[in-house]
Amino acid sequence: MFETLSDRLTSVFSSLRSKGRLSDADIDATCREIRIALLEADVALPVVKDFVSHVKERARGVEVSQALNPAQQVVKIVNDELVRILGGETRRLRYAKNPPTVIMLAGLQGAGKTTLAGKLARWLRDQGHAPLLVAADLQRPNAVQQLQVVGQRAGAPVYAPEPGNGVGDPVGVARGSIDHARRQQHDIVIIDTAGRLGIDQELMKQAADIRDAVSPDEVLFVVDAMIGQDAVTTAQAFMDGVGFDGVVLTKLDGDARGGAALSVRHITGRPIMFASTGEKLEDFDAFHPDRMASRILD
Ligand code: GDP
Repeated sequence: MFETLSDRLTSVFSSLRSKGRLSDADIDATCREIRIALLEADVALPVVKDFVSHVKERARGVEVSQALNPAQQVVKIVNDELVRILGGETRRLRYAKNPPTVIMLAGLQGAGKTTLAGKLARWLRDQGHAPLLVAADLQRPNAVQQLQVVGQRAGAPVYAPEPGNGVGDPVGVARGSIDHARRQQHDIVIIDTAGRLGIDQELMKQAADIRDAVSPDEVLFVVDAMIGQDAVTTAQAFMDGVGFDGVVLTKLDGDARGGAALSVRHITGRPIMFASTGEKLEDFDAFHPDRMASRILD
Protein backbone atom coordinates (compact mmCIF):
# COMPACT_ATOMS: atom_id res chain seq x y z
CA MET A 1 0.00 0.00 0.00
CA PHE A 2 1.41 3.39 -1.07
CA GLU A 3 4.87 1.91 -1.65
CA THR A 4 5.84 4.53 -4.24
CA LEU A 5 5.22 7.45 -1.91
CA SER A 6 6.83 5.73 1.08
CA ASP A 7 10.00 5.01 -0.88
CA ARG A 8 10.21 8.51 -2.29
CA LEU A 9 9.70 10.21 1.04
CA THR A 10 12.22 7.94 2.73
CA SER A 11 14.88 9.03 0.26
CA VAL A 12 13.94 12.71 0.72
CA PHE A 13 14.41 12.36 4.47
CA SER A 14 17.66 10.43 4.22
CA SER A 15 19.25 13.20 2.16
CA LEU A 16 18.59 15.56 5.09
CA ARG A 17 20.15 13.33 7.70
CA SER A 18 23.66 14.77 7.41
CA LYS A 19 22.50 18.38 7.77
CA GLY A 20 23.09 20.25 11.01
CA ARG A 21 20.70 23.03 10.09
CA LEU A 22 18.34 23.59 7.17
CA SER A 23 18.98 26.58 4.92
CA ASP A 24 16.19 28.08 2.84
CA ALA A 25 17.78 26.39 -0.17
CA ASP A 26 17.62 23.01 1.63
CA ILE A 27 13.95 23.59 2.42
CA ASP A 28 13.17 24.57 -1.16
CA ALA A 29 14.96 21.49 -2.50
CA THR A 30 13.15 19.25 -0.01
CA CYS A 31 9.79 20.74 -0.93
CA ARG A 32 10.51 20.20 -4.60
CA GLU A 33 11.21 16.54 -3.90
CA ILE A 34 8.06 16.18 -1.82
CA ARG A 35 6.06 17.77 -4.63
CA ILE A 36 7.42 15.25 -7.13
CA ALA A 37 6.74 12.39 -4.73
CA LEU A 38 3.10 13.47 -4.34
CA LEU A 39 2.59 14.01 -8.05
CA GLU A 40 4.04 10.57 -8.76
CA ALA A 41 1.62 9.16 -6.23
CA ASP A 42 -1.17 10.65 -8.39
CA VAL A 43 -2.28 13.15 -5.75
CA ALA A 44 -4.51 15.92 -7.16
CA LEU A 45 -2.65 19.14 -7.93
CA PRO A 46 -4.54 21.47 -5.54
CA VAL A 47 -3.78 19.03 -2.73
CA VAL A 48 -0.10 18.87 -3.68
CA LYS A 49 0.14 22.66 -3.69
CA ASP A 50 -1.59 23.00 -0.35
CA PHE A 51 0.54 20.27 1.20
CA VAL A 52 3.86 21.63 -0.02
CA SER A 53 3.09 25.21 0.98
CA HIS A 54 2.23 24.09 4.51
CA VAL A 55 5.42 22.06 4.77
CA LYS A 56 7.50 24.95 3.51
CA GLU A 57 5.96 27.43 5.91
CA ARG A 58 6.42 25.16 8.89
CA ALA A 59 9.96 24.07 7.93
CA ARG A 60 11.04 27.72 7.74
CA GLY A 61 9.70 28.35 11.20
CA VAL A 62 11.52 25.40 12.74
CA GLU A 63 13.73 26.28 15.71
CA VAL A 64 17.04 24.57 16.34
CA SER A 65 16.09 21.79 18.70
CA GLN A 66 18.04 19.63 21.10
CA ALA A 67 15.56 16.82 20.82
CA LEU A 68 15.09 16.53 17.06
CA ASN A 69 17.59 16.96 14.24
CA PRO A 70 16.43 18.71 11.03
CA ALA A 71 15.61 15.47 9.27
CA GLN A 72 13.45 14.35 12.20
CA GLN A 73 11.74 17.71 12.29
CA VAL A 74 10.85 17.48 8.61
CA VAL A 75 9.56 13.93 9.12
CA LYS A 76 7.33 15.23 11.90
CA ILE A 77 6.03 18.09 9.75
CA VAL A 78 5.31 15.76 6.82
CA ASN A 79 3.59 13.32 9.17
CA ASP A 80 1.39 16.09 10.59
CA GLU A 81 0.51 17.30 7.11
CA LEU A 82 -0.35 13.78 5.95
CA VAL A 83 -2.67 13.40 8.94
CA ARG A 84 -4.27 16.74 8.14
CA ILE A 85 -4.77 15.96 4.45
CA LEU A 86 -6.22 12.56 5.35
CA GLY A 87 -8.80 14.25 7.56
CA GLY A 88 -7.26 14.72 11.01
CA GLU A 89 -9.58 12.99 13.44
CA THR A 90 -11.27 9.66 12.79
CA ARG A 91 -14.86 10.38 11.80
CA ARG A 92 -17.18 7.88 13.45
CA LEU A 93 -20.60 6.78 12.26
CA ARG A 94 -23.49 8.92 13.40
CA TYR A 95 -26.28 6.83 14.80
CA ALA A 96 -29.89 7.98 14.59
CA LYS A 97 -31.59 8.99 17.85
CA ASN A 98 -34.57 6.92 16.79
CA PRO A 99 -33.45 3.66 15.19
CA PRO A 100 -33.00 2.43 12.62
CA THR A 101 -29.89 4.31 11.55
CA VAL A 102 -30.03 4.35 7.77
CA ILE A 103 -26.77 4.04 5.84
CA MET A 104 -26.90 4.32 2.07
CA LEU A 105 -24.03 3.19 -0.17
CA ALA A 106 -23.39 4.87 -3.52
CA GLY A 107 -20.66 4.50 -6.11
CA LEU A 108 -19.72 3.11 -9.48
CA GLN A 109 -20.26 -0.52 -10.40
CA GLY A 110 -17.27 -2.59 -9.36
CA ALA A 111 -16.24 -0.11 -6.66
CA GLY A 112 -16.87 -2.81 -4.07
CA LYS A 113 -20.23 -1.66 -2.67
CA THR A 114 -21.82 -5.06 -2.24
CA THR A 115 -18.71 -6.51 -0.63
CA LEU A 116 -18.54 -3.42 1.57
CA ALA A 117 -22.17 -3.82 2.62
CA GLY A 118 -21.26 -7.24 4.02
CA LYS A 119 -18.10 -5.97 5.69
CA LEU A 120 -19.92 -3.10 7.33
CA ALA A 121 -22.71 -5.42 8.50
CA ARG A 122 -20.23 -7.77 10.08
CA TRP A 123 -18.27 -4.93 11.68
CA LEU A 124 -21.49 -3.52 13.15
CA ARG A 125 -22.62 -6.94 14.35
CA ASP A 126 -19.29 -7.34 16.15
CA GLN A 127 -20.19 -4.17 18.02
CA GLY A 128 -23.52 -5.52 19.11
CA HIS A 129 -25.76 -4.02 16.42
CA ALA A 130 -28.40 -5.86 14.41
CA PRO A 131 -27.98 -4.62 10.82
CA LEU A 132 -30.35 -5.30 7.93
CA LEU A 133 -28.93 -5.36 4.41
CA VAL A 134 -31.15 -3.97 1.66
CA ALA A 135 -30.88 -4.98 -1.98
CA ALA A 136 -31.74 -1.78 -3.84
CA ASP A 137 -29.33 -2.60 -6.66
CA LEU A 138 -31.87 -4.02 -9.05
CA GLN A 139 -29.95 -3.10 -12.17
CA ARG A 140 -27.17 -5.62 -12.29
CA PRO A 141 -28.15 -9.25 -12.86
CA ASN A 142 -27.25 -11.29 -9.76
CA ALA A 143 -26.75 -8.23 -7.56
CA VAL A 144 -29.52 -9.35 -5.19
CA GLN A 145 -28.17 -12.86 -5.05
CA GLN A 146 -24.64 -11.56 -4.47
CA LEU A 147 -25.87 -9.49 -1.54
CA GLN A 148 -27.65 -12.56 -0.16
CA VAL A 149 -24.39 -14.54 -0.27
CA VAL A 150 -22.52 -11.67 1.39
CA GLY A 151 -25.28 -11.28 4.00
CA GLN A 152 -25.15 -14.95 4.87
CA ARG A 153 -21.41 -14.76 5.42
CA ALA A 154 -21.77 -11.61 7.49
CA GLY A 155 -24.63 -13.08 9.52
CA ALA A 156 -27.02 -10.30 8.48
CA PRO A 157 -30.42 -10.84 6.83
CA VAL A 158 -31.16 -9.28 3.47
CA TYR A 159 -34.33 -7.40 2.54
CA ALA A 160 -34.98 -7.84 -1.17
CA PRO A 161 -37.97 -7.54 -3.49
CA GLU A 162 -40.15 -10.63 -3.77
CA PRO A 163 -39.69 -12.31 -7.15
CA GLY A 164 -42.13 -10.68 -9.55
CA ASN A 165 -42.94 -7.91 -7.08
CA GLY A 166 -41.06 -4.66 -6.74
CA VAL A 167 -38.27 -5.91 -8.97
CA GLY A 168 -38.08 -2.69 -10.95
CA ASP A 169 -38.62 -0.37 -8.00
CA PRO A 170 -35.48 0.23 -5.95
CA VAL A 171 -37.02 3.29 -4.27
CA GLY A 172 -39.98 1.22 -3.09
CA VAL A 173 -37.66 -1.50 -1.81
CA ALA A 174 -35.57 1.01 0.10
CA ARG A 175 -38.69 2.59 1.61
CA GLY A 176 -40.17 -0.79 2.53
CA SER A 177 -36.96 -1.84 4.22
CA ILE A 178 -37.28 0.84 6.90
CA ASP A 179 -40.68 -0.44 8.09
CA HIS A 180 -39.37 -3.98 7.92
CA ALA A 181 -36.33 -3.02 10.03
CA ARG A 182 -38.60 -1.44 12.66
CA ARG A 183 -40.81 -4.50 12.82
CA GLN A 184 -37.87 -6.88 13.01
CA GLN A 185 -35.90 -4.81 15.53
CA HIS A 186 -32.96 -4.00 13.29
CA ASP A 187 -31.22 -0.90 14.59
CA ILE A 188 -29.23 -0.31 11.38
CA VAL A 189 -30.23 -0.48 7.72
CA ILE A 190 -27.53 -0.68 5.03
CA ILE A 191 -28.85 0.08 1.55
CA ASP A 192 -26.84 -1.19 -1.41
CA THR A 193 -27.67 0.87 -4.51
CA ALA A 194 -27.03 0.32 -8.21
CA GLY A 195 -23.79 1.46 -9.81
CA ARG A 196 -23.02 1.87 -13.48
CA LEU A 197 -19.70 1.49 -15.18
CA GLY A 198 -19.53 5.23 -15.76
CA ILE A 199 -21.22 8.23 -14.27
CA ASP A 200 -24.68 8.67 -15.77
CA GLN A 201 -27.65 10.87 -15.01
CA GLU A 202 -30.13 8.05 -14.61
CA LEU A 203 -27.95 6.43 -11.97
CA MET A 204 -27.59 9.71 -10.12
CA LYS A 205 -31.32 10.33 -10.24
CA GLN A 206 -32.12 6.87 -8.92
CA ALA A 207 -29.65 7.29 -6.06
CA ALA A 208 -31.05 10.76 -5.31
CA ASP A 209 -34.62 9.35 -5.33
CA ILE A 210 -33.63 6.64 -2.85
CA ARG A 211 -31.96 9.26 -0.67
CA ASP A 212 -35.08 11.44 -0.73
CA ALA A 213 -37.30 8.46 0.08
CA VAL A 214 -35.40 7.24 3.14
CA SER A 215 -33.46 10.31 4.41
CA PRO A 216 -30.31 8.39 5.31
CA ASP A 217 -28.32 9.29 8.41
CA GLU A 218 -25.19 8.61 6.39
CA VAL A 219 -24.68 8.47 2.63
CA LEU A 220 -21.34 6.79 2.03
CA PHE A 221 -19.57 7.17 -1.28
CA VAL A 222 -17.70 3.94 -2.03
CA VAL A 223 -14.70 4.29 -4.31
CA ASP A 224 -11.99 2.00 -5.63
CA ALA A 225 -8.68 3.53 -4.52
CA MET A 226 -6.88 1.89 -7.43
CA ILE A 227 -8.47 4.31 -9.91
CA GLY A 228 -6.26 7.07 -8.48
CA GLN A 229 -7.21 10.60 -9.46
CA ASP A 230 -10.28 9.37 -11.34
CA ALA A 231 -11.66 8.80 -7.86
CA VAL A 232 -11.64 12.55 -7.40
CA THR A 233 -13.62 13.16 -10.60
CA THR A 234 -16.09 10.45 -9.68
CA ALA A 235 -16.42 11.82 -6.16
CA GLN A 236 -17.22 15.26 -7.49
CA ALA A 237 -19.91 13.86 -9.80
CA PHE A 238 -21.51 11.98 -6.88
CA MET A 239 -21.22 15.02 -4.67
CA ASP A 240 -23.16 17.06 -7.25
CA GLY A 241 -25.65 14.31 -8.11
CA VAL A 242 -26.43 12.69 -4.77
CA GLY A 243 -24.32 14.31 -2.09
CA PHE A 244 -22.58 12.22 0.53
CA ASP A 245 -21.41 12.44 4.13
CA GLY A 246 -18.35 10.23 4.05
CA VAL A 247 -16.07 8.20 1.82
CA VAL A 248 -15.19 4.52 1.91
CA LEU A 249 -11.97 3.60 0.12
CA THR A 250 -11.87 0.06 -1.22
CA LYS A 251 -9.05 -2.05 -2.66
CA LEU A 252 -6.39 -0.17 -0.73
CA ASP A 253 -4.51 -3.47 -0.72
CA GLY A 254 -3.88 -3.06 -4.45
CA ASP A 255 -3.12 0.65 -4.35
CA ALA A 256 0.62 1.21 -4.71
CA ARG A 257 0.30 4.97 -5.15
CA GLY A 258 -2.21 6.50 -2.77
CA GLY A 259 -3.51 9.34 -4.96
CA ALA A 260 -7.18 8.75 -4.23
CA ALA A 261 -6.70 8.41 -0.50
CA LEU A 262 -4.63 11.56 -0.26
CA SER A 263 -6.85 13.68 -2.50
CA VAL A 264 -10.46 12.79 -1.83
CA ARG A 265 -10.85 14.41 1.58
CA HIS A 266 -9.39 17.74 0.56
CA ILE A 267 -11.22 17.90 -2.75
CA THR A 268 -14.68 16.89 -1.50
CA GLY A 269 -14.48 18.22 2.05
CA ARG A 270 -15.88 14.87 3.23
CA PRO A 271 -14.04 12.53 5.58
CA ILE A 272 -12.77 9.07 4.70
CA MET A 273 -14.65 6.93 7.21
CA PHE A 274 -13.77 3.34 6.34
CA ALA A 275 -11.20 1.44 4.34
CA SER A 276 -11.30 -1.97 2.68
CA THR A 277 -8.07 -3.85 2.25
CA GLY A 278 -9.01 -7.16 0.65
CA GLU A 279 -11.79 -9.41 -0.55
CA LYS A 280 -12.50 -11.11 2.78
CA LEU A 281 -15.13 -9.76 5.15
CA GLU A 282 -12.58 -9.04 7.85
CA ASP A 283 -10.38 -6.94 5.53
CA PHE A 284 -12.07 -3.79 6.68
CA ASP A 285 -11.87 -1.17 9.41
CA ALA A 286 -12.64 2.40 10.38
CA PHE A 287 -10.21 4.79 8.74
CA HIS A 288 -7.68 6.41 11.07
CA PRO A 289 -5.73 9.27 9.42
CA ASP A 290 -2.91 9.10 11.98
CA ARG A 291 -2.36 5.36 11.49
CA MET A 292 -2.40 5.75 7.73
CA ALA A 293 0.19 8.55 7.89
CA SER A 294 2.43 6.37 10.08
CA ARG A 295 2.15 3.53 7.60
CA ILE A 296 3.21 5.81 4.77
CA LEU A 297 6.22 7.05 6.73
CA ASP A 298 7.12 3.70 8.24
P1 GDP B 1 -20.04 -3.37 -6.57
O1 GDP B 1 -20.32 -3.52 -8.04
O2 GDP B 1 -19.70 -1.95 -6.24
O3 GDP B 1 -21.10 -3.92 -5.70
O4 GDP B 1 -18.69 -4.19 -6.32
P2 GDP B 1 -18.45 -5.63 -5.66
O5 GDP B 1 -18.70 -5.59 -4.21
O6 GDP B 1 -19.17 -6.64 -6.47
O7 GDP B 1 -16.87 -5.78 -5.85
C1 GDP B 1 -16.24 -5.85 -7.12
C2 GDP B 1 -15.00 -6.73 -7.02
O8 GDP B 1 -14.02 -6.13 -6.19
C3 GDP B 1 -15.27 -8.10 -6.40
O9 GDP B 1 -14.51 -9.06 -7.11
C4 GDP B 1 -14.75 -7.96 -4.96
O10 GDP B 1 -14.31 -9.20 -4.44
C5 GDP B 1 -13.59 -7.03 -5.17
N1 GDP B 1 -13.28 -6.24 -3.96
C6 GDP B 1 -14.13 -5.51 -3.19
N2 GDP B 1 -13.46 -4.89 -2.19
C7 GDP B 1 -12.15 -5.21 -2.33
C8 GDP B 1 -10.94 -4.87 -1.61
O11 GDP B 1 -10.93 -4.09 -0.63
N3 GDP B 1 -9.78 -5.41 -2.08
C9 GDP B 1 -9.75 -6.23 -3.17
N4 GDP B 1 -8.56 -6.70 -3.55
N5 GDP B 1 -10.85 -6.57 -3.86
C10 GDP B 1 -12.04 -6.07 -3.46
